[in-house]
Amino acid sequence: MSTYLDTGRGANRLVASLDAAGHRLTGPRLAVAELVAAREGHFTAAELLVDADRAQPGIGRATVFRTLDLFTSLGFVERVDLPGGDHAYVACDPVHHHHAICTSCGRSTDVDDVGLGNVLAAIGRRSGFSVTAHRLEIFGLCSACSAERP
Ligand SMILES: [Zn+2]
Ligand SMILES: [Zn+2]
Ligand SMILES: [Zn+2]
Repeated sequence: MSTYLDTGRGANRLVASLDAAGHRLTGPRLAVAELVAAREGHFTAAELLVDADRAQPGIGRATVFRTLDLFTSLGFVERVDLPGGDHAYVACDPVHHHHAICTSCGRSTDVDDVGLGNVLAAIGRRSGFSVTAHRLEIFGLCSACSAERP
């Protein structure tokens, strides 16, 4: 199985975690892993489908969507809700973090919680709510895009 060695680092991680989670490494899964790892910024399921058709003609819509769901459940892909109400996906490390998404170029940067834990604790105290999880997405212009604006 030496063909996996020359895939990108991201794809290797995905492949390793599929293995660890007891999922069979099929050709289509490997193909989708490579496409996801090659993506910069967020992508829609439709865009991934176009990539997949090009990389492996006949791969099948259902296979691509099922694989995307599997990767999402393993934490290697996260679903993000865009300001316009659409949703997209980003390739991720399976640890808790947030995304700062550029509304101009679509690039996504992983950011950690910084002081958010304190804010959530305060929200919990004030509301009497026991907070068990949260999601936060940040939108704006990345440094490259804001440098291009006057
Ligand atoms: Zn991420
Ligand atoms: Zn940008
Ligand atoms: Zn967080």
